[in-house]
Amino acid sequence: MTATIIDGTAVAEKVRAEVAERVAKRVDSGKSAPLLATVLVGNDRASASYVRSKHKACAEVGIETRGYQLSETATQSEVERLVSELNEAPDVSGILVQLPLPAHLHEHDILDLVSAEKDVDGLHPMNIGLLAMKDREPFHTACTPLGCIRLLEEYGAQIAGSHAVVVGRSNLVGSPVAQLLRNMDATVTVCHTHTQDLAEICRTADILVMAAGVGEMIEGNMVKLDAYVIDVGINDVWVDHPADTLYVSAETGDNFVAHRADESEKGGRRKQGVLQLSTEKAWFKADDAPEISKEDKISLFRKARMAGDVNFESVKHVASHITPVPGGVGPMTIAYLLVNTVNAAEILDAC
Ligand code: NDP
Repeated sequence: MTATIIDGTAVAEKVRAEVAERVAKRVDSGKSAPLLATVLVGNDRASASYVRSKHKACAEVGIETRGYQLSETATQSEVERLVSELNEAPDVSGILVQLPLPAHLHEHDILDLVSAEKDVDGLHPMNIGLLAMKDREPFHTACTPLGCIRLLEEYGAQIAGSHAVVVGRSNLVGSPVAQLLRNMDATVTVCHTHTQDLAEICRTADILVMAAGVGEMIEGNMVKLDAYVIDVGINDVWVDHPADTLYVSAETGDNFVAHRADESEKGGRRKQGVLQLSTEKAWFKADDAPEISKEDKISLFRKARMAGDVNFESVKHVASHITPVPGGVGPMTIAYLLVNTVNAAEILDAC
């Protein structure tokens, strides 16, 4: 028997359609479309790309967006001033500060300043606190945890009365998932790096949510028969690639990690980046990257694929339902950002 694959792309599509309908109804009734304001500080290309995809997803369901881009050297008070202005702006429904912020900025102080009603990422301490309280409701909860719960519901998981194990306790994923499951009457065990006998605990889970960020750490023998397995992890898997074959099989644009031959994997991580190649030499794109010559005694690991925290091939023979990576939890995160933004508009209406 193999597990039912939980199709996050299809469920996310359904969630987006629900949001589009809510937005259309608002507009038809004479209310303004929800508006998401995004704050991007600095030049991180990955962050800029995430923000672009959030804007695109908003546009597709009729949510308006306004992007604010501050320079890499923006001061704490400049960022805080912008957030305060957005808090006060009556047409702004939700505020999203794209993380990570440049190292000189105090992330906590900035996130704490976003008004709880407009905090569509669910990271304000008030929202996290309200989620943790019995019989209280936060204005917003983090998007990925909401997506995990929706996947469980869509695929018929019995949450009340189940034993749920969540591996990971971050404010963004692990802790809110655990709180949501607890609020839905599951008995929840939260695991982290100090947990003893992790495998033993995972084997008792009717619902296993993995949010550790450790590639394929969960094997089939760590999972209870017929469990629901939700894999939040997104990890790169690196495959050993002998240096002497580099010039034969590598291509410009491949993503590599290089290790010195005499160093351990962790300590030896010398450089990761996009490889550039000519007939005679190879080098990483970053300016400070050492050139890799044919004589170098280093090992190279080529980025092979994306993987979750779960060994999918092994676990799918034990679980009753499982999310793939990619195509499981990932698409749900942006879908729930859209949900939170419409919710934020409705909260503002009521103020
Ligand atoms: P964090 O690094 O903030 O948290 C990881 C958590 O896992 C910590 O609580 C840590 O414990 C725990 N942990 C790490 N290693 C182990 C281990 N070997 N055994 C048990 N527990 C362990 O990560 P995030 O919560 O932000 O993200 C988790 C994963 O989810 C990442 O792979 C991330 O890329 C992915 N992610 C995916 C999203 C999506 O849309 N699909 C969205 C957000 C994240 P401790 O507290 O003791 O350090």
